[in-house]
Amino acid sequence: MATFLSKRPRRQANNRVSASTAHCPPTSPASPCRGIGACLALLAGMATLGASVAWADASMTPLKAGQRVADYDARKHTDPYIVQRLTEHVYWVAVDSFNSTVVVGEEGVLVIDPLSEGRAERLLAAVASISDLPVTALVYSHSHMDHISDAPDFVAKVTESGRPLRILATDKTVQQIAYYSKDVPAPTEVIATPVGAFEFEGMAWRVHTPPDYGHSIDSSTFHFAAEQFAHCTDMVEPGNLPFLNFNSAMSVKSFAGAVQSLLELDWRHLNGGHGDVGNRADAEFYLEYTEDITAAALQAMQAVDFTKFINPEDHPIGALVNWSQAVSDQVLATMQAKYGARKDLKHLMLGHVQALIRDGVLHGEGAY
Ligand SMILES: [Zn+2]
Repeated sequence: MATFLSKRPRRQANNRVSASTAHCPPTSPASPCRGIGACLALLAGMATLGASVAWADASMTPLKAGQRVADYDARKHTDPYIVQRLTEHVYWVAVDSFNSTVVVGEEGVLVIDPLSEGRAERLLAAVASISDLPVTALVYSHSHMDHISDAPDFVAKVTESGRPLRILATDKTVQQIAYYSKDVPAPTEVIATPVGAFEFEGMAWRVHTPPDYGHSIDSSTFHFAAEQFAHCTDMVEPGNLPFLNFNSAMSVKSFAGAVQSLLELDWRHLNGGHGDVGNRADAEFYLEYTEDITAAALQAMQAVDFTKFINPEDHPIGALVNWSQAVSDQVLATMQAKYGARKDLKHLMLGHVQALIRDGVLHGEGAY
């Protein structure tokens, strides 16, 4: 069973303060938990950041590299929305645990993601608190409904005066919207993949959609190089470990590849769609964690004898499931040394280990 495994040297831990703790906050009237999707989403971005974090100077003052939004962890459960200016034109807006990007031009405003479950109304209130200009462009970051299902209401509201609205999405997002018959307004402009571009009031944006995806088949990074900003929904969630099964990535290799591709772009601030404003250390931490758990899993998969779990009385799949659990237990013991302060480790790690086992089976030795 373990013949596909190969050893890989462990990387040394760097000096970055990355340890954080997650806690489950009470659900507030401003952030009701409706259904499993909403509850899972509510869990996003719950990290309590360490004391070394530098906080924003003011919500309308551009953020310095590495700064976090003041009191984000508490405010996302109480404030109707949170606004933080990042650069000259770019603002980060959080509604509950969901984030949009707002770009203010000379004549209008561009919004990346209309959000879901009634959050568009608060998002538009946030936009109005930033600028009196009308929303003239809407971008779908990808096709997942927890980020775009409010598009019908959003579009109806911003076009009620008869003003035209550009709606932009990649060709892959257009395909996914059609395939799943999603009830959102059709894009008026289609962005090419794997590398596309669009302009908004003279501001040049590039859009990168890796074919071996790190979250969904239409996951893209929207990069505004002139102001060193990137929006990439559901890839890197500042303060938290990678989400279930490595963000539903195509493979662990494609997950790490997507994070690496993100780091190859020139940006200082990241909007990850959830969580606080991200910086490059957040993406580097994801790579470090992935390397660590890959090394620990490879070691455990070699050490735990698969044959001990074969039971002729049981269905054969039982051996794989029980062996995977034993491997996971050993990985958890290894990872506790470095990541033990994190409360999300024990919950997310099993899915990460299972993804590594799956990739070993599917892709063979060297898959990582
Ligand atoms: Zn998604």
